Amino acid sequence: MSRIRVAIQKSGRLSEKSLALLQNCGLQFARSKDKLFWYGQDFPVDLLLVRDDDIPRMLMDGVCELGIVGENIAREVMLDRNGGTGLDLLRKLRFGGCRLSLAVPEDSTAQAAKDLDGARIATSYPALTAHLLKEKGVTARIVELAGSVEIAPGLGTAEAIADLVSTGTTLRANHLRELEVLFESTAALYCGAGELPDDKQALLSRLLMRLDGVLHAAESKYVMLHAPRDAVQKITELLPGAEQPTLLTLEGNSERVALHAVCRETLFWEHLEALKAAGASAILVMPVEKMLA
Ligand code: ATP
Ligand code: ZN
Repeated sequence: MSRIRVAIQKSGRLSEKSLALLQNCGLQFARSKDKLFWYGQDFPVDLLLVRDDDIPRMLMDGVCELGIVGENIAREVMLDRNGGTGLDLLRKLRFGGCRLSLAVPEDSTAQAAKDLDGARIATSYPALTAHLLKEKGVTARIVELAGSVEIAPGLGTAEAIADLVSTGTTLRANHLRELEVLFESTAALYCGAGELPDDKQALLSRLLMRLDGVLHAAESKYVMLHAPRDAVQKITELLPGAEQPTLLTLEGNSERVALHAVCRETLFWEHLEALKAAGASAILVMPVEKMLA
């Protein structure tokens, strides 16, 4: 029977969430001692634990069928190695969010990317940065650094940097100012471009169906509330992404009903306030663990 391999980051920001996501899809692994290859127990999907930078190449080379990696790295490797192609993004995931931003020393006069024309820009994402700057009509001289990019301006090796930012704390600690966002990235599930053999494709479809269930469940909520009978339609319309609700009688109260519905889109406090304003009371919002449409 055929099996497919998924590469995830061995240790780093994406590791735990990548593994948890696959486990939520019902995958269980026999953890091997060397920790690089984990055998899938109930479902024929095995894990490879590697450095995140290696994942795009492994997919292109057919070492594994699937990989979870930041879009920043996938795009960089595709641009660097394959003219911007070579991988297919299957699903964006809800973690690993960050942005590739241009930053300059606090006292720099630059106000936008275009002010960096001709400047030296230090980055660990040379191909992606050059590509994104070119799209903006900026010609920069890329200084490639493997790490500690944020100290380059202080050392005089570059006038600006292009680096990953999530909170901005590292930039501030190094007296840098975020100038412009070049690229928004999240972790994503990728496969190599090209067709899989039928048996592997069938396995992939099963896995994707489970994954979609997990991803939809993550933002779906089960909502229960009490509503005036004549406000049921209005209240249903206020529930984001809800289909037909279930109505239940409230014992001893003919004016109000209990309404239950699954909301498939994110439910914000504003939605709850609007529901209350429309006459809803006793509003309960509960997480949905799994979902199979
Ligand atoms: P490895 O040893 O696997 O090469 P690494 O040090 O290159 O690890 P991490 O720092 O763990 O990688 O980051 C992995 C990914 O997490 C990044 O490529 C990016 O997609 C995402 N990420 C999210 N927020 C940030 C952030 N603030 N800084 C850097 N990466 C971030
Ligand atoms: Zn890395």
